[in-house]
Amino acid sequence: MRLKGILLFCVCVYIALEACSQGNFSTSTYPFPIPVEAPPTVTMQKLAEEQIDSLKRMKMDPFHGGKKLVVDLSEISDSAWCYPLSGAKVISPYGGRGRRGHSGVDIKTKANDKIYAVFDGLVTMSQPFAGYGNCIVLRHANGMETLYSHNSKNLVRVGELVKAGQVIALTGRTGRATTEHLHFELRVGGKHYNPQLIFDHQTKQLKRHVITFTKGGGAKVE
Ligand SMILES: [Zn+2]
Repeated sequence: MRLKGILLFCVCVYIALEACSQGNFSTSTYPFPIPVEAPPTVTMQKLAEEQIDSLKRMKMDPFHGGKKLVVDLSEISDSAWCYPLSGAKVISPYGGRGRRGHSGVDIKTKANDKIYAVFDGLVTMSQPFAGYGNCIVLRHANGMETLYSHNSKNLVRVGELVKAGQVIALTGRTGRATTEHLHFELRVGGKHYNPQLIFDHQTKQLKRHVITFTKGGGAKVE
């Protein structure tokens, strides 16, 4: 009885294999969908986790144990950067204001205007933060960090990966601000640098040069 069962099974397998080899089960008539590749969400998720890991590690030391960080903006593609507030005017430049100087640049358009992420990055802060009001900090793979503050509304959360040009917040006057504007900072290793190192505020273009940031707070371009 058992032997008969095994024999019957073998015959069935043989018939099925024959049918396949004759092309009766071609991909177009096969009754079940044939998976051609892994679901893309798995790959994207893994990629995102790897990116987040490396961006988190960077927090420890963007200088990687040395005293310099070299950022090459000369080869960056147009889709990989974005001016943070299109059409904005500078209402207060970086540095030289008050006793300790202005830690960023103030740029203005109108209330509730779209604020864009300047590079792809990881959201490391998105919350009210003292005089900054609603504040967002992004960490970028090139070792730089950018900060966006006085926002009327933050649209991203800590731990999110954002793309260059993604709307991350709306302009406001939360915190210590007398008008709706964006206070934008460029930081490396916790120190602020002149945002003019990366942007020409007149043309709203990225400065396509190589910047060498030094741990002491200096920067050199070439
Ligand atoms: Zn400011």
